[in-house]
Amino acid sequence: MKIGLYTDAPKHNFALMRIARYHRDLGDEVILTPALPSECDLTYGSWLYSVRIQCDIQGGPAFDPCVRLGDEFDVRPDYSIYPNLTASVGYTWPFCPNDCGFCVVPNQANPKRHRSIWDFHEERFREIDLLNNNTFSDPRWMDTFQEIWDADLTVIDQGGYDIRLLTEAKVEALNKTRFSGVLHFAWDDFDDYNEIVPLLPLVKAVKADKYVYVLVGYPDPYLKDEDLMRCQILAEHGLDPFIMIYNRITGKNAPPSMVLMNRYHRMVNRVFTWRNPRGMKPPAPDFEYAWNHYSSHKKEAVSENLEFPEDQLAEPSEGAVQ
Ligand code: SF4
Repeated sequence: MKIGLYTDAPKHNFALMRIARYHRDLGDEVILTPALPSECDLTYGSWLYSVRIQCDIQGGPAFDPCVRLGDEFDVRPDYSIYPNLTASVGYTWPFCPNDCGFCVVPNQANPKRHRSIWDFHEERFREIDLLNNNTFSDPRWMDTFQEIWDADLTVIDQGGYDIRLLTEAKVEALNKTRFSGVLHFAWDDFDDYNEIVPLLPLVKAVKADKYVYVLVGYPDPYLKDEDLMRCQILAEHGLDPFIMIYNRITGKNAPPSMVLMNRYHRMVNRVFTWRNPRGMKPPAPDFEYAWNHYSSHKKEAVSENLEFPEDQLAEPSEGAVQ
């Protein structure tokens, strides 16, 4: 049989890698993104953002996050469909115990099943791309780290680490691990204040480069005082907040509340006005001050619902007020 695989994933797609292995083991010919789907006997589509073409069998968050591959696809990934990959790819623990309303993971019914990295890792790779959603909710999280250390691997971590589950032992494990790229933590809901804030010193103790994501615009689609407060508290703990806007819209279709959130996103993530606003005594991050100054300075753009051209957003030196 001739099998066609399609996806909108910008890099690799783990589901397709397993589908490829399953069919190759059956002796089928497997082609990634064949030009003519009609020439295939069977097509699969895995869609993260939008369904690009209709396939015989489809899944992924953009199609239906509840669709799962059957047990027959529980095989090692086939790396040959992505010959340029330089890291192994897979999950040691796909499950997440949380039920965040803005996230597709709770709908995926991911199994509470720990796996060894050797179920998907290939020795020729020096890097491992862990797709886990919440590694520290795995009772055997330490086994994963031990295997990574024993194999002397660098971790590319696409998921985040749950602040609420941090302990000194976990920080020690993170600090003993080589990472490529930035680690992600998150404080998505101000109501988690009592769980998150006492553990922020542990986040600070993580030596790798890190961001703390701050979700805004959920569930209410506008910027709130508590969004500034979360950033303020993180900055006072010496941490970098990183704004994530729920269902972000940019450009001329953005309503005024979204334009404001986009502007806040830019100030926090790119312009860094807040880090040391001129005139602050003592110099310290002050989000309200920085935001009032920044948003009023850009008043025209905000009220006209326009995006500032990117070339007018050159990053100033730290501490400069926009
Ligand atoms: S903790 Fe992360 S992965 Fe888990 S449900 Fe919330 S956002 Fe999704």
